[in-house]
Amino acid sequence: MTLETNIEELKGVGQAVSAQLGRLQIKTVADLINHFPRRYEDYSKVVAISSASPGAITIKAKLTGVKARYTKRRGLHITEAIAQDDTGRLKVTWFNQPYRSKSLKAGAEYYLSGTYDYSGQYLALTNPSLELADELNVNTARILPVYPETKGLSSQKIRKLMAQVRKTIKKVPDPLPKELLKAANIPSFASSLEKLHFPVTTEEIHSAKTELGTRELFVLNLASRLLREDIKSYRAEHIPIIEQDLQAFTKRLPFELTAKQKQVAWQVLKDMAESPQPMNRLVEGDVGSGKTVIAAMAAYATVKAGGQVAIMAPTELLAKQHHQSFIELLHGFVPPNSVGLLSGSLKASAKKELLGKIKTGGISVIVGTHALFQETVGAKDVRLLVIDEQHRFGVNQREALLTKAKKVPHVLTMTATPIPRTLGLVVYGELDISVLDEKPPGRQPVQTSLISLASRADTLKQVLANANESNKVYIVCPSIDSNEIADSIEATESYLQKNFPKLKYLVVHGKMKPEDKDARMSEFRDGKCNVLLSTTVIEVGVNVESANTIFILSPERFGLAQLHQLRGRVGRADKPGYCYLGLSSNDPASRRLRLIERVSDGFKLAEADLELRGPGALYGTRQSGELDLRLANMNDAQQVKWALAASEYFVHAGLNLLHYPQLHQTVTSLQKVTNLN
Ligand code: ADP
Ligand code: MG
Repeated sequence: MTLETNIEELKGVGQAVSAQLGRLQIKTVADLINHFPRRYEDYSKVVAISSASPGAITIKAKLTGVKARYTKRRGLHITEAIAQDDTGRLKVTWFNQPYRSKSLKAGAEYYLSGTYDYSGQYLALTNPSLELADELNVNTARILPVYPETKGLSSQKIRKLMAQVRKTIKKVPDPLPKELLKAANIPSFASSLEKLHFPVTTEEIHSAKTELGTRELFVLNLASRLLREDIKSYRAEHIPIIEQDLQAFTKRLPFELTAKQKQVAWQVLKDMAESPQPMNRLVEGDVGSGKTVIAAMAAYATVKAGGQVAIMAPTELLAKQHHQSFIELLHGFVPPNSVGLLSGSLKASAKKELLGKIKTGGISVIVGTHALFQETVGAKDVRLLVIDEQHRFGVNQREALLTKAKKVPHVLTMTATPIPRTLGLVVYGELDISVLDEKPPGRQPVQTSLISLASRADTLKQVLANANESNKVYIVCPSIDSNEIADSIEATESYLQKNFPKLKYLVVHGKMKPEDKDARMSEFRDGKCNVLLSTTVIEVGVNVESANTIFILSPERFGLAQLHQLRGRVGRADKPGYCYLGLSSNDPASRRLRLIERVSDGFKLAEADLELRGPGALYGTRQSGELDLRLANMNDAQQVKWALAASEYFVHAGLNLLHYPQLHQTVTSLQKVTNLN
């Protein structure tokens, strides 16, 4: 048997089982070995019947008095027997397993593992697995892995198959360099897998999970460390810090920068001024913390030095908003007509003209969506790239912007997604991170309330009654179409029309043309309407200061980070904001949702989310497939420390990634993962 052996060659795998395995993506022996247990049941300790107490137990006993019957009334096949060892007897019952009575050997000794509990009036061992005591046991008397199952294919069956391939686990190649395993003291891949599938003790389960989790974190960290090394090898243009320019800039602002803003702006400017290496800094600050002005300062310094700046936003809406903000923030320093908006809705001729100006340098600040990147390639001399809400910017992308002098732009990324410290360390090791954890003065936390389905209508009515020009309202729906789920835009629209026939509202969603979306957002901002019904398109960055209330329907359907982003749309001026989470049922809210009601700090929420749902949950669903994090636990300091040490060794020992094709492939695909959820 090899790892490539087709699963159909195993004993007990006919057409039906093969199809079931197919549903679990298991086609070969290697796939089967790669099917990890979900949890374990400990049946390893064989108890004497006299000392059996309710719960999961294993006994070693002879079976007598086997009886099978069928109860017509309940439609049940019942097989009963008495199990007996030297210390006592207990009742064993199987439901709907009529074949049992025929297969049991009277007088033979068995291991029986199952739940011992009340069945009617009596304590009984119900539906236990059993195996002859003198045979090699797979399903009893040991720690039993419980696998992800599929209809018709139980863990019992999977365990039997796993037992057949057990010897082949040794053949699983180790993707990591031998030298590294030795230096970092990482046991072989095969030995960890063996422990994972066939643990003898709970300690073995723990160490298998730690070892395999460490490997996952190692690869993640290696991806970012190698990226850092790559970026180091490039050169970027020096952007000098001119103090009187900065003073003039801050003096013209309508507000005083917070101490944190000054500190972070300084870090950014220093990066661009000091090192011949390109800046690669992430500014992380909760919604409304004032990141844009920092980018504007960096942009000003860059333009002043004679370079161009490209600013990328995740959506058209935001690009437009940034365009406006940059014109305002740079007013008096950079002429408004040299701040260009590269928008998808530009007419061909206008676009051509704009691209021409970008090429010749007539435009010095270019704002657009992430898709803009392709078009900026022809730019004259981009020395600074500002990226909103995308974290990782690859070396290839940088390379495409190489100037004639063979230099790449400095990169400043900004995010409102709070990145827990260890996550930043492991996943974004290539970035220098600045944290903007102070909000402009006067901001008040958004008051968040969970609203049960029963009182939802009343609350909404009140909210809408209070909507006016200085208290605008967002209503957010999880989807557009009504045939998907209840609280869609469509359904909510007809609800509003029926119950609030006089209400004027605007609708914005992702399937609209960008220019329509923009037009409606502007109308909302300019006060034509006080209620905006939307999907999550308003999630990132949209800034309408007069909007103070957000009503989110079916919050169960959103991630914590997403809800936090959404509520960050309100309370942006110095008035308190209100966020209502209108539950779609009357069930008590989940722990997650209760957390968001209580905690207003985005960082604390992210830490909690990481703990509650694991790192996988932090990545966008689109990208989580690439990550394949199954046993990694970033809350486990041991795993993190071990993984960081291993990847540090890899880089410092100068190991060549190209010599390890499997590792190389994983690392490359991880480097393409740009965003956390
Ligand atoms: P975000 O960090 O979410 O991108 P913005 O940069 O959009 O936040 O800033 C949110 C709002 O706060 C803007 O209207 C901006 O003008 C304002 N702002 C930024 N810094 C300050 C400050 N130091 N004092 C007062 N208001 C500020
Ligand atoms: Mg922003």
